[in-house]
Amino acid sequence: MIRRDFFKYSLFAATLLTTNSAIASIPKKDKKSKVVICGGGFAGLTCAKTLKQLDKNIDVTLIEKNNNFSSCPFSNLWLGEVGNISYEDLNYDYYKTIEKNSFNFVNEEIIKIDKNKKLVYTTKNIIEYEYLILTLGIDYNYEKIFKDKKSIQECKIKAPAALKPGSEHLALKRMVKNFKGGNFIISVPNGAYRCPPAPYERACMIANYFKKHKIKGKVIILDPRDKPAAKPYKFLKAFEEYYKDFIIYKPYSEFKKINFENKTITYKNFDENQIEYINKKIDFEEANIIPPNQANALIKKSNLEVDEMGWAKLRKPTFRSTSSEDIYIVGDSQGEYAFAKSAQMANSCAYIVSEEIASRIKNKIFDYKNNMPGNVCYSMVTEDKAVSIMHNFKYEDTFIPSYEISEISHDVAVGAKGWYFGLINDILEI
Ligand SMILES: Cc1cc2nc3c(=O)[nH]c(=O)nc-3n(C[C@H](O)[C@H](O)[C@H](O)COP(=O)(O)OP(=O)(O)OC[C@H]3O[C@@H](n4cnc5c(N)ncnc54)[C@H](O)[C@@H]3O)c2cc1C
Repeated sequence: MIRRDFFKYSLFAATLLTTNSAIASIPKKDKKSKVVICGGGFAGLTCAKTLKQLDKNIDVTLIEKNNNFSSCPFSNLWLGEVGNISYEDLNYDYYKTIEKNSFNFVNEEIIKIDKNKKLVYTTKNIIEYEYLILTLGIDYNYEKIFKDKKSIQECKIKAPAALKPGSEHLALKRMVKNFKGGNFIISVPNGAYRCPPAPYERACMIANYFKKHKIKGKVIILDPRDKPAAKPYKFLKAFEEYYKDFIIYKPYSEFKKINFENKTITYKNFDENQIEYINKKIDFEEANIIPPNQANALIKKSNLEVDEMGWAKLRKPTFRSTSSEDIYIVGDSQGEYAFAKSAQMANSCAYIVSEEIASRIKNKIFDYKNNMPGNVCYSMVTEDKAVSIMHNFKYEDTFIPSYEISEISHDVAVGAKGWYFGLINDILEI
């Protein structure tokens, strides 16, 4: 049964490949509730699989622009040559989960969503939905730090943010591998961004690489905050204990501009002597400039409400957009709840949304308040040591988190590996 459905899908995909200029409407299957999921990352893949497992009669279609899955979690380890993580450990095909879970897969880029007509427009097709789940992840908001398009383009190419997988990660890897010495700057953005511990873990992994390869380099973290955005005291301890000669952490330091010709970065820093913020300059050899983040631009473009920072608004306690009862927004794009923008949280919330939709199709009421999400997030700090944070939630007008941070230890590093491959297996059925 599963194989037959898979071949049906293959035929369907082949049909899509041959329709290029004309926009084809995918036939509506009357007897099945049609759930369309936009974005095949951590949240989207979890929804596609879970919905089919909860009710195989639901017609589930996942739309994803990339033709393979690429992971951000564990990319910092690969960057720093830690834990034997290879490029293959980060990249996977979509076929196994499609075959095993029998959902439709449309490998196209979404360009528009019409919430009134309940249609999703891709580059080649128009797809109808009854319920829509948007799991589109983040976009960068370079406009907040640069005034013109030329500077944005230059920064994207020469100092990529690498919060999205693919070319940005490969570029960063090349920058680390070819590094001969000098300052490697990581600038952390203001506001909420994807994976709060990622820049600090990245600093540790690059410093670990410099240490191992005896490179006379320093990783300099420019952070507008007073301390790291996640696991702050553990990261400060790791910088001090393991990377005294390799990492300089600069709090109250906000990125202002970058000059690639004379290789300097200007940042606003709180000067303790003058007791005010002043502009300072620092030389760099390579830079990883992370701009402010926001929800994927399609959400706002589709007239779905976002907050002042560009994150999607939801109707509490649900994951339904405040702009449409039939559109759910899960994963990093949502800004309603104080959830860490993590793969684990995306996965956990996607399970909840799938349960809600499966109940809704059966006309059953879903009790959000008794189905709490959970989060665990590991950060490697050395070759064989890591630190983790665990979040639990209760509901009182909104989701209230409580958390526990581990010590830095080898056992936690072992747990990190188990967690990563467990999650990959969960969503991709490898
Ligand atoms: C360096 C780094 C390390 C990290 N480490 C961890 C970690 O250790 N643990 C952890 O839990 N989290 C970690 N994260 C965070 C994690 O990667 C994100 O929180 C997670 O990817 C969010 O899942 P998502 O489904 O919301 O978005 P994504 O996984 O980004 O999925 C969005 C999908 O939508 C697709 N898409 C976007 N636009 C379109 C379009 N127009 N048409 C079609 N498809 C589209 C994208 O191609 C993508 O596949 C890390 C992140 C980074 C950057």
